[in-house]
Amino acid sequence: MGMYDPEVLRATFEGGSTRAFLWRRSQLLALERFLVEREKKIAAALHADFRKSAAETFLTETGYLRGEIRFALKHLKSWMKPDRVAVPLIYQPAKGYYCREPYGVVLIIGAWNYPLNLTLAPLIGAIAAGNCAVIKPSEHAPQASAVIATGLAEYLDRNAICVVEGGVAEARALLETRFDYIFYTGSRTIGREVMHAAANHLTPLTLELGGKCPCIVDGSGNLRVAARRIVWAKFLNAGQTCIAPDYLLVEQTCEAELIAYMHEAIADFYGADPRSSPDFPRIGHVDNYLRLEKLLAVSATSPGTATDSGERYIAPTIIEGVTPDSEIMQSEIFGPLLPVITYDGIGEAISVVRKGKEPLALYLFSSDPDVQNRVVQQTRSGGVCINDLLFQASLHTLPFGGLGSSGFGAYHGRAGFDTFSFQRSILQRSLYPDPDLRYPPYGSLKFRLLKTLVTFFD
Ligand code: NAD
Repeated sequence: MGMYDPEVLRATFEGGSTRAFLWRRSQLLALERFLVEREKKIAAALHADFRKSAAETFLTETGYLRGEIRFALKHLKSWMKPDRVAVPLIYQPAKGYYCREPYGVVLIIGAWNYPLNLTLAPLIGAIAAGNCAVIKPSEHAPQASAVIATGLAEYLDRNAICVVEGGVAEARALLETRFDYIFYTGSRTIGREVMHAAANHLTPLTLELGGKCPCIVDGSGNLRVAARRIVWAKFLNAGQTCIAPDYLLVEQTCEAELIAYMHEAIADFYGADPRSSPDFPRIGHVDNYLRLEKLLAVSATSPGTATDSGERYIAPTIIEGVTPDSEIMQSEIFGPLLPVITYDGIGEAISVVRKGKEPLALYLFSSDPDVQNRVVQQTRSGGVCINDLLFQASLHTLPFGGLGSSGFGAYHGRAGFDTFSFQRSILQRSLYPDPDLRYPPYGSLKFRLLKTLVTFFD
């Protein structure tokens, strides 16, 4: 458990050291060193938590974060520059500009499914913007949480950044204190509670929540490639990815072919028995396993999906014959179960998507530009990826975040820096000239003159 003394962090922030470009740079470099030097320890922790492979950990956690740090380091100077604005003639002589200033001491609460990414990617934004930060990793990835806590204490400025380990009680206790910004990643239910707690202190916040991300396949492109990409994205991290395709909407004429290719892809990637594949992780924690086991029992059309409660293993499973009213369509799946719904004409697929809540991501496999335009224009979601999946969230140049029930606010790259900064507007005027016109008594002549000036020169 990292030591947390709110007074120390507050004093550090008040002291001003975290505002310096060199402090921000040194902390980002130190975070990068932690990711490089502790790569093996990090991979071992995630393997112990839910049997995630070292390659997957690199791709989705350490490798991604290192890219995010490099990107921030490259652009930090320009992000920190104030923006000059035009000042209308009647305010001259004057200079107007706005700066992006740190909020102060921020709180980052992360979910367990990508334990490093979901705590450290926001931290990169928080550091880049010059904040002090308290990080609360999820208790459901305990080994990862411990690696983060010991690592950050050793590598980063302890007076400015600290980790608090623990679960619900610790999270609630933290939320009782006042922070200057809260960044939360996790479920909608807890998100609501976090927002209530933030309201008590009038603290601004970002909520990165989940939802059911649809994936539409209209059959106009190469189905084998679509199938391989969908299988990869769905069963990465055993389906426990907030932007994983939750369900498929497939044009009925290509359903059989797509499903055949998907089964082929599952066998290619994970072998005949995915349980023995080193690349197929386990379910993160027991509650999630039990929920999925139940969902599987009411949803599977053909018996025989392998599960193992001892190992928290659930095989990659495609579920056919699903309709929007099926049980599995009523909440986010967050596991390796992939329901397939067929549709007749793209309009029907769009209306299924529109009936659901705003998803974090929307996917479309189609080579038809009209279909691509229609789907993008007639639906809403945090992000979209056409003819591929997940990568909309890995570009440092694209903001990542949700909408409506999938949350609000964004991060990654510049968006992360902006999220953890507030824009402070500064107008610097001269004491002269000081015409009498602005001061009362106005009288009708002065008022007319004022009106003319304001209308013409503003
Ligand atoms: P979780 O159980 O790990 O909880 C998330 C965090 O909330 C943990 O650190 C936990 O300790 C903390 N917490 C628990 N109770 C709390 C409380 N009462 N007050 C404050 N904090 C509390 O993860 P989860 O909630 O099961 O996460 C899974 C959900 O997160 C899914 O819906 C998934 O889609 C979503 N998710 C979203 C993103 C995104 O980027 N938008 C990323 C990953 C996961």
